[in-house]
Amino acid sequence: MGSSDLRLGEEAMRGEEPFRWWHAVVLTVAMLGFLTPAVIDGIGGVALDGITLACLFPGVGLLAFLWTWLTALPGILALRRRSRQHWSETARRLHPHRSGTAVVIAMFPGVLMLLACLAFQAKPAVLIGIGVTGAAGCVLGSIPIGLAMGLRQRVPVGYWLRILLTQPAVFYGAILVLMPGALGWSAWGLLLIVVVRVVLLNVWGAGGSVHTVRPLQVTPELEATAERLARDSGIRLRRVVLADAESAGAYAFPFTKEILVTRGLIELLGPSELEAVLAHEMDHLRESRWMTLARVVSANSFLPLLLVRPLMAELGPIVIGPLTLWWALVPRLISRWVLRHEAKADHRAASVDPVAYGRALLRLHESNLIPAVLTENLTHPNLYDRLVSCGVTPDFPRPAAAAIQSPFGVLTSAALGGLGVAVALWAR
Ligand SMILES: [Zn+2]
Repeated sequence: MGSSDLRLGEEAMRGEEPFRWWHAVVLTVAMLGFLTPAVIDGIGGVALDGITLACLFPGVGLLAFLWTWLTALPGILALRRRSRQHWSETARRLHPHRSGTAVVIAMFPGVLMLLACLAFQAKPAVLIGIGVTGAAGCVLGSIPIGLAMGLRQRVPVGYWLRILLTQPAVFYGAILVLMPGALGWSAWGLLLIVVVRVVLLNVWGAGGSVHTVRPLQVTPELEATAERLARDSGIRLRRVVLADAESAGAYAFPFTKEILVTRGLIELLGPSELEAVLAHEMDHLRESRWMTLARVVSANSFLPLLLVRPLMAELGPIVIGPLTLWWALVPRLISRWVLRHEAKADHRAASVDPVAYGRALLRLHESNLIPAVLTENLTHPNLYDRLVSCGVTPDFPRPAAAAIQSPFGVLTSAALGGLGVAVALWAR
């Protein structure tokens, strides 16, 4: 996601996200086009009669709903205690379960598809049906945590629909299911579809996402501040977009030289704080194309795993080693580079007004319930260290580090990996 900032990408997704119907229509057409060959292929490797199917799909949906709800439950309980503890403690307790819910939404439908692949050798149409039903269950199961976070659901239908349509698990699950057991033209063709999706969502999408939000009229003060900052630091800024979103966030798109801020951010911050945040984002516009590419590669380091089946057929199970290593190591290697850029952008923002910038960071983390310290943070330095390096002393003691993932999240991703290997080894 370009250089979505301050770890707010996820939060912005969860907020009251502006939604454009044409976006849904394009995605639906693309999804249908992609699914048609699988549907034409017919239903069922084993004969699944009507009654079995009638029980299977609701059962899958219910299982996905319960799994997601249980994953989110400790986070919901942490939010209930919100008024009785410091925000950083609520954020620390909430964080792993919120990440867990995101992982489950992204991966659990894939787990269900792979399970069905092993259990019934079901054909693509049934598997994709299971994926879509599972995805719907997961999305519904995540509603309670959204409500507990106090998100006003003004456009819930559009928001949920978009999550369903951009569901990575169903897309990548379908690719895995359709991936042949040999490195032929169809394997490369499927990989090409994946690359096109990644380019659309990450490279064009980073700038393109600017065009999918409901823009508001940019205030003259905001425009003037941004232009002045760009001029002072010799940066080419094409435009600032003000998005009609409740959650507070600021994003830089180095590829298209745009900066996006949300209505929530404008409402949360005072003028000097907003200026410091803009200065931080502006510094990201200096990033090279290589940096943008590195961010995309890092976010998609799991993609080579999609070729596990044909590669294993060609080279044997040994390929699992390098593929898994790539997936695990590449984001960590790239993160050193990303964190250096972050520190530089922080330095630039603090040079405008260190106290205002520190206050802005604090307000953003508090408003979005992002922990002040994480056990591992691949995208940004920890809030506590950022404040200290700005020369701002936080008004609370350094909290214990928040875990990055919940047991449910770890279990779900491990199940996806294990079942993926099992399907590559034994199925079909
Ligand atoms: Zn940044």
